[in-house]
Amino acid sequence: MPQIGCDCDVCKSPEPKNKRTRASILVSLTSTKHIIIDTAPEFRLQILKTGIKSIAALMYTHVHADHCHGFDDVRAFEFGKHKPTVPTPCYMDKGFIAEFENKFSYVFKTNNYGGVLPHVQLHPIPTASFTVAGVEVATLRLPHGKVQTNAYRFGDFAYATDFKTFPPDAIDAWRGKIKTMVISGVRFNPHPTHSTVNESAAILQELAVEKGYITHLSHDIDYYKHRDVLPANVEFAYDGLEIEC
Ligand SMILES: [Zn+2]
Ligand SMILES: [Zn+2]
Ligand SMILES: [Zn+2]
Repeated sequence: MPQIGCDCDVCKSPEPKNKRTRASILVSLTSTKHIIIDTAPEFRLQILKTGIKSIAALMYTHVHADHCHGFDDVRAFEFGKHKPTVPTPCYMDKGFIAEFENKFSYVFKTNNYGGVLPHVQLHPIPTASFTVAGVEVATLRLPHGKVQTNAYRFGDFAYATDFKTFPPDAIDAWRGKIKTMVISGVRFNPHPTHSTVNESAAILQELAVEKGYITHLSHDIDYYKHRDVLPANVEFAYDGLEIEC
């Protein structure tokens, strides 16, 4: 936000918490070991604010444009390195790999580009629980229109974005295991491929999450005007939000 061409109150709001870039998170395991989940179109601007200098791994929830089109700027982590370097592991559902390689064919399919490129090794997510950068990550797949997205859980922290519902087996798998969760919920009115704010707030209760944050918010949501509708243990997320887990 603001949305291009829109004059609504939220898009015109001067409040920093109503200014939103596309959804992504950084999971810092230590001060120097970082995992990035999704490279939004504003990835470069987002990562500059963190000051991090390297990444241990990349993970994707899915490969819609708003979640991966900032991928090119991963190349900055290669500046100043002497080749050959070890490629950064990059995980996504196996069904997305061909589409990702096509989107970024200059990285994966040609060898005459002539500039510094992102240096990653694509890995299909192997199992429902696997190791990334030395930590155990649990994943489950959620329906999102024509595709399924991967939600990720690191111990008692979970991230789920871009889903219509949490099917009963997903609720059963993660209920009671999550203390803190960041979850998408785009607006109040029903959406064909996304959960609403209220549906996401209800999912957080079904999962028995202690503290939830709703992200991927559209211009229907005014951070200050609408936060009172949320249950006591749920808040809206905002750009730059840091959570210690
Ligand atoms: Zn607007
Ligand atoms: Zn999205
Ligand atoms: Zn999506």
